[in-house]
Amino acid sequence: MSKIVIVGAGYAGMMAAAHLDNAGVPFTIVNNHDYHHLTILLHEAAGGRGPGSNYSIPIKEVLTKDTSELVVDEVVGIDREKKVVKTKNGEQPYDYLIYSLGWISEYFGIKGLKENSLSITNLDTAVEIHEHIENEFKKYTEDHDKRHLRIALGGAGLTGIELMGELLEYLPKLCQSLNIPFSDVDIQCIEAMPTILPMVAEHLRPYVVETVTKKGGKLRTNTKIMEVTPGVVHLDGGETFEAGTIVWTGGVRANPLLTEAGFTVDRRGRAKVNSFMQSVDDDHIFIAGDSAWAENAEGKPYPPTAQNAEQMGPLAAKNIVALQNGKPMTEFNPSDMGTLCSLGANVGVGDAFGIPIKGVAAALAKEGSKALYLYNLGGLRLAGNRGKTVMKI
Ligand SMILES: Cc1cc2nc3c(=O)[nH]c(=O)nc-3n(C[C@H](O)[C@H](O)[C@H](O)COP(=O)(O)OP(=O)(O)OC[C@H]3O[C@@H](n4cnc5c(N)ncnc54)[C@H](O)[C@@H]3O)c2cc1C
Repeated sequence: MSKIVIVGAGYAGMMAAAHLDNAGVPFTIVNNHDYHHLTILLHEAAGGRGPGSNYSIPIKEVLTKDTSELVVDEVVGIDREKKVVKTKNGEQPYDYLIYSLGWISEYFGIKGLKENSLSITNLDTAVEIHEHIENEFKKYTEDHDKRHLRIALGGAGLTGIELMGELLEYLPKLCQSLNIPFSDVDIQCIEAMPTILPMVAEHLRPYVVETVTKKGGKLRTNTKIMEVTPGVVHLDGGETFEAGTIVWTGGVRANPLLTEAGFTVDRRGRAKVNSFMQSVDDDHIFIAGDSAWAENAEGKPYPPTAQNAEQMGPLAAKNIVALQNGKPMTEFNPSDMGTLCSLGANVGVGDAFGIPIKGVAAALAKEGSKALYLYNLGGLRLAGNRGKTVMKI
């Protein structure tokens, strides 16, 4: 039997692993933690809606069969000639590989941005943002320097706006506990493009602006971040914004190890795949999730979203099993369940199956999508066990 290795236990990797686990097909999954973090809920962890443990699931809680092996290690390279995944502490030989290491932040060469900002990339960094803001606000109670109460969020895409919505629910509570007037807080979301949330229908965007503004946040479009120095965001036109907390959410790209391993990549470092999620450079490697440069029938790249990752992962696993059994592979033909953007616990915006929704309806639909994901990943057992902590209803 050939050896299947999956690298990355995110949405794509975990769904691929669950498919193989259910089918009793042996495989090894390599991930840098022994848990699967729910990336699309990390803004909730940053806002402290629940403890960090609400946003992670032990991998072994999902993969229960003896045929499923978990290796906790960091992937540092792929030797395609030797068919080996190189890790910090060893090597994993493979016959078939599913690469699903997700994304890293893209800083677009903006000077000092990487060094002087926080980012929301995993559970640890989400909790770090939460603790950082709390510490800054506590410092304010000691020295009354208003810089501690200023927060700059770079980027008004899904991550930036969801984080803004969450913080606007958390900060009034934090202020109340520390006896700070919330009106002294200045939280700004800074976007270089003329619009916010390009993935949400244009007619719904004013609702986002209204909701965020009413809660005390500022959304700034057409405003470029030129440089970041410690505690200072330098904007075009010479304006500066001194802020105790600076978070960058403005872009993602694939891990550079795909480029280093010689894959054909796009400008975001994603590796090109055919319609079976198979690398165009290597028949034995399948790429799934945000790392994949996959195109639809019109040649348009699929966007890096959790719902695409959730569907690419199991397809890659299924196609490897098909290859092993000499059966035909299946093409990627995802269903689009819509895009939902949370603006806090009880309000959101977006579309469900193409129908525009906003307010409580969108927040409920988002909760529904979480439940569906848990069910798809681990059936009723996982949805039942985890539903209560991961969901708020
Ligand atoms: C705050 C936030 C909100 C979002 N909201 C939405 C949303 O509402 N809807 C939506 O569709 N998308 C959303 N996204 C985007 C979505 O999270 C990604 O598209 C999705 O996570 C991609 O899945 P993936 O499996 O490719 O990668 P990931 O889910 O990122 O998984 C990658 C896995 O690989 C591991 N890993 C990474 N590097 C290494 C390494 N070197 N060695 C070992 N392991 C490694 C990671 O720990 C992780 O377990 C959001 C993202 C953020 C940050």
